[in-house]
Amino acid sequence: MMENERIELVRRLSEMGYIKTEKVKQAMLKVPREEFLTELNRPYAYVDQPLPIGEGQTISAPHMVAMICEILSLEEGMKVLEIGTGFGYNAAVVAEIIGKKGHLYSIERISSLAETAKENLKRTGYSENITVILGDGTKGYPEEAPFDRIYGTASAPKLPEPLKDQLKIGGILLIPVGEHRYFQDLICISRKSEDEYEKKSIGGVAFVPMIGDHGWPEKKI
Ligand code: SAM
Repeated sequence: MMENERIELVRRLSEMGYIKTEKVKQAMLKVPREEFLTELNRPYAYVDQPLPIGEGQTISAPHMVAMICEILSLEEGMKVLEIGTGFGYNAAVVAEIIGKKGHLYSIERISSLAETAKENLKRTGYSENITVILGDGTKGYPEEAPFDRIYGTASAPKLPEPLKDQLKIGGILLIPVGEHRYFQDLICISRKSEDEYEKKSIGGVAFVPMIGDHGWPEKKI
């Protein structure tokens, strides 16, 4: 039943142009979004919208997950950093694409969400190539840097500088940036050389705030 709904959603996301490549399509066909929701929201797993996961946070809409994965041009074996694990759905889709030879480090600042994400990823079989870390992702994760890809699923007022530095040459950083609560710009940064970066604006998005040393201060939110 849920599987048919998943197939139909993936068909629509492909038709609308959010899903462009076979690898993103196969990953989204495989990962059960219903396993990354609260019990109450499971019936809406294949409605293309963000849904509440508690603590004032959300699971991103499926079209946004597809967009992120396509823009990042993920390849098997890559080392990736995610900021904002939530309940772990986007992480599972990325892990499916980068495969067992790849590794995703995902940072979440709210402990209850990080714990649920760990449980969800274990139950669905993604705990082997995903490490969930409790902490402030605006500082990146220097312990495992540099990364092939870095992406944020929360929005920062300005580009957090440590993330740029932790990108491999040839790497891509994708993050929503902007000072408006309900409208930000999705920014894509490619590192061309040691000190050369190319910046591209993808378009308007609306994400929850990225709170941390290089993000929003907690008290203003
Ligand atoms: N990736 C999730 C998914 O698969 O649906 C979406 C998560 S939600 C839109 C954004 C998450 O970013 C929230 O869980 C929030 O707690 C987290 N967050 C905000 N600021 C953060 C920070 N500085 N470091 C790590 N996580 C942060």
